[in-house]
Amino acid sequence: MGTVPFECRYACIDEKNSREIVLLRGSGCKWRRCRFCDYHLDFSLNEAENFRLNSKVLQQVTGKYGRLEVINSGSFCDLDAATIQLLIEICQKLHITNVYFESHWLHRELIAAWRQRFAAAGITVKMKIGVETFDSLFRESYLDKGMGMAAPQEIAAYFDQVCLLQGLPGQTKESMLRDIELGLQYFERVCINIMVANTRPVLPDAGVRDIFIKEIYPLYKDNERVDILLNNTDFGVGV
Ligand code: SF4
Repeated sequence: MGTVPFECRYACIDEKNSREIVLLRGSGCKWRRCRFCDYHLDFSLNEAENFRLNSKVLQQVTGKYGRLEVINSGSFCDLDAATIQLLIEICQKLHITNVYFESHWLHRELIAAWRQRFAAAGITVKMKIGVETFDSLFRESYLDKGMGMAAPQEIAAYFDQVCLLQGLPGQTKESMLRDIELGLQYFERVCINIMVANTRPVLPDAGVRDIFIKEIYPLYKDNERVDILLNNTDFGVGV
């Protein structure tokens, strides 16, 4: 995945946890080592260009549901200051009271101040992290996620929502269920991404994907706290 076209940067999700979603552009993920990810290629070091693009994307937001998810193929703190200021102004104007951001574990100590900044503007921040799995040995040795041995309780001290990555070699029905249940136990929401092949070395496992579709998907598809992305563009943004 390289730079995402403008028309793939805004969507409105009308089903579960209805919200608008924007894919903005920042200075890029500072970790960039996850062995399954090439999203981080959507970045630019030119802050003025990022702001120009982000302001056009943000102009499409209507405030329809009062909730906005802001993703940027990296972490919240990769966004430029002008984009953040504009985002706050737009939320206030459109009565958006909940904004969801994403972050890598690296930036966890910046989250409290971020929440405070938005709270001062009347906006509640919900912070999402891609943990992919709570099996830290698998997560770190195979996926190179950069979270060390962090346990669900420690992660939940900073984050409200988790993303899981399933359909990977080595996963089983039991391991996938365990991750989902831990996610539901410690976090407000769980987003399950099913692995799709990209330019990186980790590939989907067709057998594990089948197990997910047949035995796990039916259990959670109607769960209001669980989002399931069978394709990584299912939220309507990205390529
Ligand atoms: S932290 Fe996120 S954006 Fe960065 S490499 Fe990992 S999955 Fe990709």
